[in-house]
Amino acid sequence: MIYFVCASLSYLFVFDHATFQHPKYLKNQIVLEMRQALFAMPIMAIFTVPFFALEVNGYSKMYDTFADAPFSAYNLLQVPLFLIFTDFFIYWIHRGLHHPRVYKHLHKPHHKWIMPTPFASHAFHPVDGFAQSIPYHIFPFIFPLQKFAYIALFVFINIWTVMIHDGEYVSQSVIINGAACHTMHHLYFNYNYGQFTTISDRIFGSYRKPNEELFHKDTKMSNEEWTRQKKEMETIVKEVEGDDDRGYSDGTAEGKKVQ
Ligand SMILES: [Zn+2]
Ligand SMILES: [Zn+2]
Repeated sequence: MIYFVCASLSYLFVFDHATFQHPKYLKNQIVLEMRQALFAMPIMAIFTVPFFALEVNGYSKMYDTFADAPFSAYNLLQVPLFLIFTDFFIYWIHRGLHHPRVYKHLHKPHHKWIMPTPFASHAFHPVDGFAQSIPYHIFPFIFPLQKFAYIALFVFINIWTVMIHDGEYVSQSVIINGAACHTMHHLYFNYNYGQFTTISDRIFGSYRKPNEELFHKDTKMSNEEWTRQKKEMETIVKEVEGDDDRGYSDGTAEGKKVQ
C-alpha cells in the first residue's frame, strides 16, 4: 500500500512527465515497473517473516516505550544511528550487486529503468530487494530500537525509495543521496551506490556529482542534456551488460543502430 499510494502521489504531483520523451524511456515502462514490483514484494515479504517473528517473540533489542531507552537522548540518537548504519551496509551490498558475476542474475532487473519513474522504486529481483533490506532487519538485533520509531523508519524508508526515483532534483546537498544522485546511478551504473547519503561513495571512491544541468528547469529536460546522457550511457551499458536488450519507447532496441 505504501508503494502504490506514495508512487501514485509522486507520479501525479512530483514526477516530471516530460521523462516520457527521454530517448531512454522504455515502451510500457510503468506497467513493466509495476509488474516487477508486484512480483518482488510478496517474496521479499516472505523472506522478512523470520526477522519479524524473532522480533515479536522478544529476541531483538526493540523496546516498548521511550522510557525504556538505555538513556533518554537515545530516543533521538537511534534515528541517525539507524540511517548511518543501514546506509553503510546497503552501500556495500548494492556495490556487491554490481559485481559482474552477480549483476546480470540479480540486479539487472532494477537497472532496466534508465530513466526511472516513482514505480521503479520497488521494482527489483526479489533477492536483490531483500538483500538490500537486510541491514534494516539486522539493526534491531544489534542496537536498541523503539518499536514505533521502527514503524516510522519503515514508512520513511519506503517513501525515500520512491523519492529518489521521482526525478525531482531538490537536493543539491553534498551529503544527501537525493534523486539527482540516484538518477546518475541509473544512467551511469557504477556510481552513487548509497541509499540515504553520499558518505560511503565519497570515502570509497564511487561518488559522482550530479550533472549541473539537472538542477535548472530549462536545461534539466533539454535535448542537449539528453543527448549527452544518452551518449555516455550507451558507452557504459556496453561495458556493463554488453548488448542493450531494452525496448525503448522510440522503437530502438537490441541490434538497431541508435543515432
Ligand atoms: Zn544499482
Ligand atoms: Zn534505483
